[in-house]
Amino acid sequence: MIAPADACARCLGRGHLLAPSGERSRAEVCGCQLDCQVCRGTRRVVRERNGALYAAPCRCRDAARRVALYNQAGIPRHFCDKGFSTFRVYDPAQRDVLALVQGFAQSYPRERKGFCLWGRPGLGKTHLLCATLQHLTLEKGVACRFVEISFLFSEIREAFQRNVAALTALAPLAEVDVLAVDEIGKGRGTPFEKDTLDELLCRRYNADRTTLFSTNCTVALGPERFTAAGGYADPLARVGKQLDDQDLRGQVGDRTFSRMTEMVGFHHLDGKDRRNPFG
Ligand SMILES: [Zn+2]
Ligand SMILES: [Zn+2]
Repeated sequence: MIAPADACARCLGRGHLLAPSGERSRAEVCGCQLDCQVCRGTRRVVRERNGALYAAPCRCRDAARRVALYNQAGIPRHFCDKGFSTFRVYDPAQRDVLALVQGFAQSYPRERKGFCLWGRPGLGKTHLLCATLQHLTLEKGVACRFVEISFLFSEIREAFQRNVAALTALAPLAEVDVLAVDEIGKGRGTPFEKDTLDELLCRRYNADRTTLFSTNCTVALGPERFTAAGGYADPLARVGKQLDDQDLRGQVGDRTFSRMTEMVGFHHLDGKDRRNPFG
């Protein structure tokens, strides 16, 4: 984002500030939004479409709501400053995936089909999930939730121990507009884990809600689907690289995997390790 010359020096015209707080990343409304210089406090701006002028709400008007949505999303503190602009690409495969993910975030809710980023650790999959939620909450005012898979299971398990019914325990994750599930496939693959995932995804699928995933597992798909989703010319060679690793279908079970193929496009994030790009 290029800030205009007269933009607020603290937030660079974004209208919000991000900082870690406890285990989470937190946003707050920048002071410039309270005494907005763009609309001079009227909360309205004049825009032009097809030669006609019309009044539209100023961005400052729902700054507090967008910030609240960000804070409800549960972005981990480590990913506080991890937006699209700070995602560094080290090779063309990473650039392609960044463009796909960014394209999704910009066209949501017109584009409702989510994505699953897969590949070995250290390639920035969680960064891209968090950047997507940052964009959706702060730029578009969409309700989102980030959850790491082990945390999801322990949260549901604790709810069951308190005798909360499955339907109620899963409701916050089932009903949020966009849910990002980090590290799906991690875990022991117990019947409890498989049933929980199946129930959650089934409810989200039936309600046509968007779900995003990241996984360190291998995703083996037929070449036709893989090409359609990821556009790779030689998908089987890429799949072959990780055949020794755990397979996502085996980890989550056939039912959930098959549901996922309906809900998302699978994109292989390959290339140099971001934590050690020269390795
Ligand atoms: Zn500001
Ligand atoms: Zn304003």
